[in-house]
Amino acid sequence: ERKAALAASTGPGATSDGHKVPLLANVGGPADVPAALDAGAEGVGLFRTEFLFLDDSSRAPSEEKQVEAYRQVLEAFPEGRVVVRVLDAGADKPLDFLTPADEPNPALGVRGLRSLLDHPEVLRTQLSALATAARGLPVYLEVMAPMVADRTDAKAFADACRDAGLEAKFGAMVEIPSAALRARSILQEVEFLSLGTNDLAQYTFAADRQVGAVSRLQDPWQPALLDLVALSAEAAKAEGKSCGVCGEAASDPLLACVLTGLGVTSLSMGAASIPYVRATLAKYTLAQCERAAAAARAADTAEEARAAAQAVLSGE
Ligand code: PEP
Ligand code: MG
Repeated sequence: ERKAALAASTGPGATSDGHKVPLLANVGGPADVPAALDAGAEGVGLFRTEFLFLDDSSRAPSEEKQVEAYRQVLEAFPEGRVVVRVLDAGADKPLDFLTPADEPNPALGVRGLRSLLDHPEVLRTQLSALATAARGLPVYLEVMAPMVADRTDAKAFADACRDAGLEAKFGAMVEIPSAALRARSILQEVEFLSLGTNDLAQYTFAADRQVGAVSRLQDPWQPALLDLVALSAEAAKAEGKSCGVCGEAASDPLLACVLTGLGVTSLSMGAASIPYVRATLAKYTLAQCERAAAAARAADTAEEARAAAQAVLSGE
């Protein structure tokens, strides 16, 4: 039955009553593109560009090398969306030329957008490479910053994009609780939000994502995390803008339905999960997803949230 459901799973992501939820792929570079295309991804929702930088941690790759890699990914999705995240270095992905060596607590230190604002030449080169790569291609380029904390961060990033002459939508990742709490203020500066639920869970629960002993708190079904997702999605709706999810949460088919019910407008995940998420989403109406989302938020624990959503969707 599972096989039949997957085989029937093609085309754009949507609920059974036709509410569209684009299903996008998370990629680390051109090597991940074939799997994304095979899975029928409608574009890329998270291009983790730091993989280009990890070969040689002593300096940034040349602008030419970056242009080549960005162009290969952009060319693969004509008429599709490609959301490129600027370099997210620091914490679990340190780079010698960017990351301070002596931070007592790297996850709370200079990482993500903070590193780039400290090294504007690295951001400038990356944005200029993206502008060159996208030139003449029919793709919908969107560029977003990791670890945006507030409106000041969002404005600094949008200014850098404008200065680079980038013809793209600029967005902010919501990975820090302050960004979810003040999402409307951030949306005064950028055109879309993308929830990075891995880091959002880490910072909401003060639970390091690399420490197995606190993994219970990294569960994306935690109702507090669902509350922050809902706040972000509601803010985006009020501003007439989009709010996707690109963290691991999007790859859990049941949770994908709940995220849809919370108002999330696209889901980005590892390519292998796309057929499962597409098949599950196609089984339920938007109203059922909304009821499942409300039931999950009313729960007190991650386990209860999952069980409550499951009960609603299986009609118990
Ligand atoms: C996230 O934090 O959820 C995310 C998508 O970014 P990364 O996992 O690369 O930190
Ligand atoms: Mg992250």
